[in-house]
Amino acid sequence: MPQSQPSPTRIQVRVPAKINPFLAVRGVREDGYHELSTVFQTVALSDTLTMSVMAAEGRMYHPTSGGRVAVHFSHDGGAGVPAGDDNLVVRAATLLADRIGLRLQADAPIRTLLALEKRIPVAGGMAGGSADAAAALLGLNELWGGDLSRRALLELAADLGADVPFCLVGGTALATGTGSATAGVLCRGSFHWVACTADEELATPAVYAAWDDHCEPGEQTADDVLAAVAAGDPERLGPALHNDLQPAAEVLMPRLRADRRALLDAGALGAVVSGSGPTLLALAADQAEAHRIAGRVAGRFADVLITRSPAGGPVLSAG
Ligand code: ATP
Repeated sequence: MPQSQPSPTRIQVRVPAKINPFLAVRGVREDGYHELSTVFQTVALSDTLTMSVMAAEGRMYHPTSGGRVAVHFSHDGGAGVPAGDDNLVVRAATLLADRIGLRLQADAPIRTLLALEKRIPVAGGMAGGSADAAAALLGLNELWGGDLSRRALLELAADLGADVPFCLVGGTALATGTGSATAGVLCRGSFHWVACTADEELATPAVYAAWDDHCEPGEQTADDVLAAVAAGDPERLGPALHNDLQPAAEVLMPRLRADRRALLDAGALGAVVSGSGPTLLALAADQAEAHRIAGRVAGRFADVLITRSPAGGPVLSAG
């Protein structure tokens, strides 16, 4: 009998990183998580997850009728990115499969290949792992015929991590709770940033632990940042940038303070630690100025990336 040809089906999801122009820590909740008020915005710096299903020709499967699938994951992100079950892509795939009644088995006849191209700085406070998880949820829901609603995907996203629901949607949002309850807000125009990465990583739990030891709940509101993004006004956004995790990140990595100063001296309208750091974000008046600032500070950082916000949400393409 002739060997049946594999028939691949492919979906690619390009998913942007996020920044937090505003992040206030309101305190620690009874469940141990920190209560936040934060403004999220996607930036034009993205990872790409390519997902393909390889099945024997003519073979029918339906996830909800006891289908079995093997998942093979690979990435080009280097040693800092987990290769196996700890990767948020694999965790998202496992959670989604469970939700739609699909069994993951290494020897299953239908194989799903997940190939991740990492461009978002790793452990840099730009939610790279969360973005990848969102890409996996969106893409595999299509590829595996999960047919889950946007609302059901948002629920799964929140189980994977506080930033994942925003990463599913993108744009500009105000978030409360642990950061997983988001509401879209108005943003006009574009903002130009220089994202400056460090050689060292800062683990998010370590930064929150430093906040617990050294900081008090902040009372600053997001009003100034919301007004600045609604007006599309970088001159107004620069001085309004705010992050309550910044002092905690600076306890763990004191050089961040001098690096931030250097960005302001180089012409940034404002400079702030991104999320839990250590990436620093410098806001520039326009794109040309972003290039000038990047040129002036390049020697201080592992990498300087010029990017723009907001960047919309994940983009799916098939075939
Ligand atoms: P956040 O801004 O959401 O706090 P981050 O940008 O600081 O996150 P990530 O790049 O998401 O950090 O990585 C944090 C850790 O998560 C890494 O050190 C790595 O061990 C783990 N990780 C799991 N999956 C991924 C992934 N797909 N990409 C990057 N890191 C991942």
